[in-house]
Formats: sequence, C-alpha cells, structure tokens
Amino acid sequence: MAKIAFFGLGNMGGPMAVNLLAAGHQLSVYDPFVKSLDKFTNDRVAVDKDKITVAETPASAVEDAEYIVSMLPTGKHVVDLYVGNEQTPGIIQHINKSALIIDSSTIDVDSVKSVHAYAQQHGIEMLDAPVSGGVSAAQAGTLTFMCGASQENFERAKTVLSGMGKNVFLAGDTGAGQIAKMCNNMLLAVHMAGTAESLKLGINNGLDPAVLSQIMLQSSGSNWSLEKYNPAPGVMANAPASHDFKPGFTVELMLKDLGLALQNSVSTKSSVPMGALARNLYASYGSQDDANAKLDFSSIWKMF
Ligand code: NAD
Repeated sequence: MAKIAFFGLGNMGGPMAVNLLAAGHQLSVYDPFVKSLDKFTNDRVAVDKDKITVAETPASAVEDAEYIVSMLPTGKHVVDLYVGNEQTPGIIQHINKSALIIDSSTIDVDSVKSVHAYAQQHGIEMLDAPVSGGVSAAQAGTLTFMCGASQENFERAKTVLSGMGKNVFLAGDTGAGQIAKMCNNMLLAVHMAGTAESLKLGINNGLDPAVLSQIMLQSSGSNWSLEKYNPAPGVMANAPASHDFKPGFTVELMLKDLGLALQNSVSTKSSVPMGALARNLYASYGSQDDANAKLDFSSIWKMF
C-alpha cells in the first residue's frame, strides 16, 4: 500500500480520497478551504484515524509521499501548487525524486506541459489523469481516468488510480489526457442541453418526462445525460435536478471546460459549431443570475 499526499478535498477530491483510504492507502491531506477539509475529516478521521494525516502546510503534506494526487479547480491552482507564484513557493522542491505526481484536475494543456516540464527539471515524474463520471462515480469508485503519460508512468499510476476508478485509459503522451477530457466534456454539454430541450418539448405537449425518458432510453435518443443525470426535476431521485440542482458539477466548471475546448479549437483550426453554441448557452445562463453559476450544470434545464 502506498503513501499518498492528496490535495483538494472538494466535491470530487473528497470522495476520491475516501476511496483511497478504503483501498488501504496511507493519506496525508491538504485543502485550504475549511468547509472541504471539515467535511472530509468529519466523515473519515474517526473511522480511519491511523491512515490519515491532516497536513498544516502543502510542503509538509508531501514529506515521504510516494504519490501526490491533486484534484483542483483550474490550471492556475495546479501551477500555483507545484511551481508557485510571487507570494508562495511551490511544493516541487519538497517532493521526493522517486515520487509520482498525478494531477486529476481538468485544466488546459499548456498548464499541464509547464508543470510537467518544471517537475522534470527537478527530476520528478508527472502525469495528467483527468476524470469523467461526476460526484456519484467519485463516491462509488467508478470514475474513468484518461491519462497523458509514458507507458511506464501510466503503469505506476494504475496502483493508485485503480482505487478510485473502474476504467483507466492511456490517451497518449503528456497533455493527451486533458485533450480526451476536453473532447468528452464538450460532447457532454451538447447532449445535456439537447436532452433538456427535448424533455421540455415533450412536457409542453403534455407528456410525463419520466415516461418520455423511458421511451428515449430504449430509442435512438438515448445518452448519458438522459440515463444517469436526467435534467428534469423528479425523474431521477438522486440526480441534482431532484435536489434544486445542488452540484454535482457546477455551471462555472462546465463553462471553464467549454472555454478550454473553444480555445483549443482556435489553435488547432478545428470547427466546433455545436460546442460553441453550448458554450454560449451556458455563458448566457450563467450570467443571467450569479447564483446560476454555482448550480449543477444540468440546471441548463431552466433556460428552456
Ligand atoms: P471543488 O471546487 O468542489 O473542489 C476543489 C477543491 O480544491 C476545493 O476544496 C479547494 O479549496 C481545493 N483547493 C484549491 N486550491 C488548493 C490547493 N492549493 N491545495 C489543496 N486544495 C486546494 O471542485 P470539484 O468539483 O471537486 O472539481 C475539481 C476538479 O475536477 C475540477 O478541475 C473539475 O473541472 C474536475 N471535475 C469535476 C467533476 C464534478 O462533477 N464536480 C467531474 C469531473 C471533473
């Protein structure tokens, strides 16, 4: 079993860390946001107190760590953590040369490449391993990991990733995991918006959205948003739609991902008309009311 430093105990990182404990690993955790840290420690310290250290500083979290896992909001958070900024130095200098960094945050490829290059200058290996599946899959330990790494680092990372996910893929070299994730989430935004609009059209014609969902699930309109994350309130008891759109995966995080896809489409001269439409829809919805940005992304339902 491995000694793991874990950074970012939010909606995703919290349950992922819990699964690493359940897999028998020893964890040193750090999160500057008291609410995230408290939720994790309240849930786990009593149960797993011999396996958890709550670190006072990022540097102390990585002492003796064989693996470092980060699950942070944006590329800036990841660069600040490892490389540092004008106010705070990064943690690379404190990491053992034999340790492996696994960043599972969804971030831009340039940030991945800059942290990877900086880590290599210090003799440390790193891979990008963003995830798909959302909070429920993080809780169930059934996430899909998409890795950008050498074959050797990919094999090393599997020891840890298999404790948090069901599917672990090697997409290609450094940054390739983020590209796979970006393509996936652009498609997710498109089918979530399309699912909401179709269900609303049915309701406006007097259909019950639960019945319409059952029909479409057995028909050619079937998709993940309809099956696992239905945006119509009341259709699926544990979907965010049935809990006032409490996240889950926030509108602002989806907007971040769509922004990454559109930026990349410019640099690769790719045509992404559906992704652009989905981004504009989410941007318009997110700016209608500040509160919308903090709701689950399935709340795009309210636009229709
Ligand atoms: P979140 O905002 O709930 O959690 C992020 C956590 O990181 C917060 O608790 C924050 O305090 C912490 N943090 C920030 N800087 C830190 C630092 N330097 N050290 C330690 N902790 C730090 O976000 P989330 O929903 O858990 O998402 C995390 C990442 O996973 C994002 O990149 C997101 O795009 C991606 N993602 C989210 C989902 C989802 O359904 N929520 C699904 C797939 C991927």
